[in-house]
Amino acid sequence: MAKSGELRVLHVASEVVPFVKTGGLADVAGALPKALCQQRGIEARVCLPGYRHALRVAENLGLRWLPGHLVIEAGGVDHHIGVGEVVHDGLCTYLLACDELFGRDGCYGPTPSSDYEDNARRFSVFAKAALALPRFLQWIPHIIHAHDWQAGLVPALLERGWCHDLPATRSVFTIHNIAYQGTFWHWDMKLTGLPWAMFNPLQVEHFSKLNFLKAGIVAAQRVTTVSRRYAEEIQTEDYGWGLEGVIAGHAHKLSGITNGIDADIWDPAHDPHLPAHFDAQDLSGKAVCKAELQRELGLPIEAKTALVGVVSRLVEQKGIDLVLAGVDPYILAGRMQLVVLGAGDPAIEAALRRLQGRHPTRVCFWHGYNEGLAHRIEAGCDLFLMPSRFEPCGLNQMYSLRYGTLPLVRYTGGLADTVTDVCSGEGNGFTFGPADLGHFSAVLDRALGLYQHFPEDWRRAQLRAMKEDHSWQVVARSYAALYRSLTWV
Ligand code: ADP
Repeated sequence: MAKSGELRVLHVASEVVPFVKTGGLADVAGALPKALCQQRGIEARVCLPGYRHALRVAENLGLRWLPGHLVIEAGGVDHHIGVGEVVHDGLCTYLLACDELFGRDGCYGPTPSSDYEDNARRFSVFAKAALALPRFLQWIPHIIHAHDWQAGLVPALLERGWCHDLPATRSVFTIHNIAYQGTFWHWDMKLTGLPWAMFNPLQVEHFSKLNFLKAGIVAAQRVTTVSRRYAEEIQTEDYGWGLEGVIAGHAHKLSGITNGIDADIWDPAHDPHLPAHFDAQDLSGKAVCKAELQRELGLPIEAKTALVGVVSRLVEQKGIDLVLAGVDPYILAGRMQLVVLGAGDPAIEAALRRLQGRHPTRVCFWHGYNEGLAHRIEAGCDLFLMPSRFEPCGLNQMYSLRYGTLPLVRYTGGLADTVTDVCSGEGNGFTFGPADLGHFSAVLDRALGLYQHFPEDWRRAQLRAMKEDHSWQVVARSYAALYRSLTWV
């Protein structure tokens, strides 16, 4: 039952930590509602699809099946949705389970780089189920906050009154990455529950395709993106992925709120994944983390050589090609060791294996997903590379800052919001502009030079980085203000 006087917010996301994660969206969808619940007068809850893996995690966290089920129609077929509830870390999460749609190994496709053919159906049903959930729970939110294309139909269905129980509920839609839009052929309109009349360029059609992201942008009362700079960038041709005109047309309701990090999970003073702990007052544990990481990766244990890290999905966006093209001279000169953790595009993976083959004692490519190693890389490295071509927000640079690992980033999106070059005198990392080899090599050379020859300056930058507050508590206040601007609560 809802408490009176409390602002109720339902988050709708296709992945949520700790249940399932393929990227930063999951971190946000797990941490933001949690941080909102810690604000005075807000109750946030979250729902996600009950993928096979997510249900397994939920069972270990005390999953409870609520009595009854939702019946959601899509294209003349009824889907029966079981509702599982988990309360974890004070956050109430609902898993919307439907074996024929979500009982699979992947979230969006059989492999990270492929899609399921019925994704239009899967995420139409998910959106409708999320909107049917409040009535089922007898918990009517003031705000439904939908995330990314997988929840893009939520604001559109809400606006069309698809669900009669939510006449006063307002919608917020967050774009985490405009490159992923959820585009489908026009006949999938019949799955969505939206009228054919909406299949026009001002609403859900984009160049003859049904576009779920556009549906969310157009219909939501407020649109946010995950950094201030990205909110500006996506209004331009270079970053808008064809939707720049749509975004510019809705700029009056657009704002950028830079993501935070979960400061409980990413805390070098208490991180259970680390062999030693440290903070800004005492960095000695970081040296232990470095030596242990070198040992774990089979690299020579050298305190003075810069250990450089990458943790990333291996896709073109992340600019790994610049790393591949740029690091050989620095490795050969003995100025750095490199560890890359990630998986994705087979061509990038093969190139990383070749790089490791060229420098077997200097480079470690760890293929796959490894949460614990990601923490140890953040803690044990000196420098962290994010040469992204575009980066809506990026989380790893903020983890790096907290762990005293200076980030080297391309000046774009959330990287530009959070990293300032040390050459300003007050910076916390290294930035470069044009995404080309010359600029990347120059900044890498500069960073390694500072590390080798100016350890005191390096230490000062580390301390500045570690003292910054990028926690969700700060960010949640901005979202709370946005919600309150839409309601009277
Ligand atoms: P994106 O959402 O584009 O993938 P972000 O930087 O916003 O990029 O978030 C990526 C998240 O996924 C971070 O928490 C990062 O540590 C994590 N991550 C990415 N690849 C791996 C991996 N191979 N192993 C462990 N964690 C990973």
